[in-house]
Amino acid sequence: MAYGEDGVVETLVHFIGGTSVQPESGDFLDKSDPRTGRVISRVARGTAKDVDAAAEAAFAAWAEWRDRRPIERGRVLLDIARAMRAKVAELAEIEIREAGKPNWQGPIEIEGAAQYFEFYGGLVNLPHGEIIDLGANYHSYTRREPFGVVGVILPWNAPLNQAARAIAPALAAGNVVVAKPSEETSGSLLLLARIAVECGLPPGVLNVVLGAGKEAGQAIVQHPRVRKVAFTGSVRAGREIGQIAAERIIPLTLELGGKSPNIVFDDADLGAAVPGALRAFALNAGQICLAGTRLLVQESIQDKFVESLTKAVAATKVGPEPDAIVGAITTRAQYERVLSYFEAARAEGARATTGGEPYSDPALKQGWFVPPTVYVDATPDMRIAREEVFGPVVTVLPFKDEEDAIRIANDTDYGLAAGIWTRDLSRAHRVAARLEAGQIYVNEYQAGGVETPLGGYKNSGYGREKGIEALHHYSQLKCITIKL
Ligand code: NAD
Repeated sequence: MAYGEDGVVETLVHFIGGTSVQPESGDFLDKSDPRTGRVISRVARGTAKDVDAAAEAAFAAWAEWRDRRPIERGRVLLDIARAMRAKVAELAEIEIREAGKPNWQGPIEIEGAAQYFEFYGGLVNLPHGEIIDLGANYHSYTRREPFGVVGVILPWNAPLNQAARAIAPALAAGNVVVAKPSEETSGSLLLLARIAVECGLPPGVLNVVLGAGKEAGQAIVQHPRVRKVAFTGSVRAGREIGQIAAERIIPLTLELGGKSPNIVFDDADLGAAVPGALRAFALNAGQICLAGTRLLVQESIQDKFVESLTKAVAATKVGPEPDAIVGAITTRAQYERVLSYFEAARAEGARATTGGEPYSDPALKQGWFVPPTVYVDATPDMRIAREEVFGPVVTVLPFKDEEDAIRIANDTDYGLAAGIWTRDLSRAHRVAARLEAGQIYVNEYQAGGVETPLGGYKNSGYGREKGIEALHHYSQLKCITIKL
């Protein structure tokens, strides 16, 4: 029998100093399969003591890892990427069970995670210093140096992908890591940490502490050995972490939420824009920070566009079956939150052209499935047009012209991503320059890869992950000047 099958309840414990470690509290949190509601694992409830053990193990491992020749660090990261690919089925299965992802999506996310190790494994020599000319009497130069122990705190929506996104560049730059996955999705990162040690990563370089945010998460940010934190998650938790980081004066990367506009102009290729808009809001059951959940459609094509989109959405298979396109909401609390937006939308007078009601089908009702939903007759001040739902829900907002689109698109506290659909390249560049968001996608929502930097404007956060840019966030600059 495997993890998550009938009757199997796995016990997940910390991975510290290269070995499994029981929680000091002796306590565990129950974790359920989002597709059935059944408990599938008991997850160690980490406390400050466990975090202390992990941070000390990391610190003890640091000097050897830091002082290695970079290509030797890189070789380990490349081996990890290969080993992840060899274990893609096992890693994907864990995420399908823990996060409720559809079968097709699991392996794609693991492949994406492996690419971070491949990309940063190849870039280990990139961060380099410079010589600064001060005239003949001085020799001045800079070095890029790692911080030491980096804390990585992760959400549940793309567990291994987001973990790899932060851990791979941190390790490439010569840091050591204490990572905390979400208490809802701990399994794949635990397996990755074991794989990494098998690939030659020295024990203690990557530690995984499990447990709740307020306890284990906060203890990571507070630990004196932790010199930098990368956080991905909600604005609420980001604020709390930011306050501690400010007090401790440690740098922070915050990847927070979004309410991203996806703008369809009347000259767009609708054959691409309709499925593109569907994917933008419904992929991963809408649990994507980058999701395009405010669909701005030019008035002249609104009716035609909404009709085609509604048909495409209604035909999208949702459920636990192997051929489903959309899976479950990962947590019960989030499921209930999404349903509460159906109520809010109704009370505010928006109209669902499809979805908008919980499922009544018993097979879907036993898990946390929600129907992909399209709202029309909405205004930009409604809650479904302003708040991050984190479910497969899109709100259509009409606009007149370019200026109107830019105004509505920027009328949000968030600034993570934005999409533009048009055949007019000049317009695409013009609008892209004026949108207040860290990622702009033209004619393909969420275009890009491990190579393209990612991060937020406004309440969506600061700092950048991915791409070459991220490496600079995992090192600090030292300047050395010698009087000759
Ligand atoms: P969350 O903020 O509740 O939790 C994220 C992580 O932080 C978890 O590991 C949690 O245990 C921990 N945590 C919670 N409170 C904490 C605290 N006070 N101190 C330290 N750690 C704490 O978020 P979630 O519900 O797991 O994830 C959904 C949110 O994440 C959404 O808002 C989504 O937009 C955002 N997100 C952003 C990105 C991005 O790259 N910008 C990617 C994925 C998800």
